[in-house]
Amino acid sequence: MLPWLRTCRDHLNQSLANERLGHAPLLHGPAGLGKRSLADWLVRRLLCLAPNDGNPCGACRACQLLDSGTHPDLFAAAVPEDRTQLTVDVIRELNRGLELTPALGPRRIGLIAEADQMNRNAANALLKTLEEPAGQAWLVLVSDRPDALPATVLSRCQKLAVRPPPTEQAMAWLAEEVKAADPAQHELALEVAGGAPLRARQLLQEQSLEFGLEIRSALLEMAKGNVLEPGLTETWAGRADEAWHWLAFWTRQWTGSALGLGEDTGAPADAERLAERWQAALTGRALADGSIRADLLLGKWLLEWEALFPPRG
Ligand SMILES: [Zn+2]
Repeated sequence: MLPWLRTCRDHLNQSLANERLGHAPLLHGPAGLGKRSLADWLVRRLLCLAPNDGNPCGACRACQLLDSGTHPDLFAAAVPEDRTQLTVDVIRELNRGLELTPALGPRRIGLIAEADQMNRNAANALLKTLEEPAGQAWLVLVSDRPDALPATVLSRCQKLAVRPPPTEQAMAWLAEEVKAADPAQHELALEVAGGAPLRARQLLQEQSLEFGLEIRSALLEMAKGNVLEPGLTETWAGRADEAWHWLAFWTRQWTGSALGLGEDTGAPADAERLAERWQAALTGRALADGSIRADLLLGKWLLEWEALFPPRG
């Protein structure tokens, strides 16, 4: 269990012991905290036939079937591969499964890992199960963006927030996980990830952070009036989605003057115009999947960035 999830796990155990855990807990919080692994633990805890001091035993028939992915009382709803949303057929199938009598233990469980991906019809189909759950039916929901869930669904769930850990704990974990990076890189990755350690680890491992820093220094150079290295736009276009992410990230940072563009470059930083660049980067990212050539879009953005800083001297 990830160290920062232990408090949540203990809280869930306590609630179960006191019979205060509702039949539809919703684990929510920013991406990159491991909410899904906590949900998997909860499913295991609820289905295990012989929990040991609040933990799944790992040895009973239920635990074995969960290990092999064939537990007959677990129904997991996932976004179909050819779709972008959780559709009504998926939820109807889950509902049908939950109506049956448990095959093994005292409960049947429906796990909805990306609950905010339900479309309207899917959410409506789920409402019936949420309103009148069959006696032994439980739902476990997970969401990065609970505000995207319909209020009707939200109000029938027991909301349990998973929050980013204290910086010290996250830093200690990252130091163990990504030994190749130094503490300054850990700190920056954590900041970029909004305090979510798993996301920070991903940034460090995929070297996306390095790419992000390269973009940052190129933008700062341009703000100082220096010309962009030739060929750079083409290189960035090869990783367009990431490039847009970083352009948006740094312009947002500078807009909030958290890192102080003026301090770094001596260039005047106009918050309003920086915010425009930030918006334009978000738009660019949204367009990045389309048919417009990535290098042209990026080139246009960079020209507009350059224009913010009149040549000096
Ligand atoms: Zn067990």
